[in-house]
Amino acid sequence: MFVIGSHMSVAKGLDKTAENVVKMQANTMQIFSRNPRGSSYKTYGEVEMTRFQSIRKEYCFGPILAHAPYTLNLASANEKTYEFACMVMKEDIARMDALGIENLVFHPGSHTGIGVQAGTLNIVKGLNQAITGKEQITVLLETMSGKGTEIGSTFEELKAIREGVNHPERIGICLDTCHVFSAGYDIVNGLEEVLDEFDKILGLENLKAIHLNDSMMPFGSHKDRHATIGNGEIGKEALLGVVANPRLLGIPIYLETPLEDDGHREEIRMIKENVYGIYNTALF
Ligand code: FE
Ligand code: FE
Ligand code: ZN
Repeated sequence: MFVIGSHMSVAKGLDKTAENVVKMQANTMQIFSRNPRGSSYKTYGEVEMTRFQSIRKEYCFGPILAHAPYTLNLASANEKTYEFACMVMKEDIARMDALGIENLVFHPGSHTGIGVQAGTLNIVKGLNQAITGKEQITVLLETMSGKGTEIGSTFEELKAIREGVNHPERIGICLDTCHVFSAGYDIVNGLEEVLDEFDKILGLENLKAIHLNDSMMPFGSHKDRHATIGNGEIGKEALLGVVANPRLLGIPIYLETPLEDDGHREEIRMIKENVYGIYNTALF
């Protein structure tokens, strides 16, 4: 199944968001697990949840992705920051799992000076206190652009986290095209090589989501600024090449381009039109 959607606001309710997914001719969505910059979350109402579940079932949604807050830093050496991150991870894994959401993605974190190894150890411990091993949800590590002391801009760093935890089977990877490009993985001229490397280090079977974004910043810049599809340094052709790559078929795609729902609907339409043109529709 070809699964595509975009990051969406849940401000009007989960059920409304799911309705909008259908209107956009998408079949999945990414939502924040809670307020992206604060610590608060609102509890979903009973009616809202029931409607949400029935819409996603009726329209055969693919895996839904929740995104943890940006403020969370599970690599931090600062006690308060770390405790907060641990608390949010534990709560949101449980909350999103209870909702039947398939995947929860988070930014591994920034070590802010203590070094990659010590930062990684913090991330591993943080994940271990949050994951029971009994949940259905998979926690995804996002590939990062590597700004400042960010951990996760190489496949090796992500591998170290995954292999360090007690329940690696509950950990997957979310590949962000903008982030890997700015981290120095050449998906424009060497997608196959990048996928080979991903497969060798992390295993393509652990790739559970693709964030499809163009990049305002140049290759290897380690700067993270998303552009709309075709209006950045990666370009339309390379991004459509990611969508159409046979090794990536069936992996859900989420747009995080700087657009609202209307703009995302257009991007989804453009992608489908182009990819259906490249590949037989029977594949999807
Ligand atoms: Fe992200
Ligand atoms: Fe992303
Ligand atoms: Zn980004």
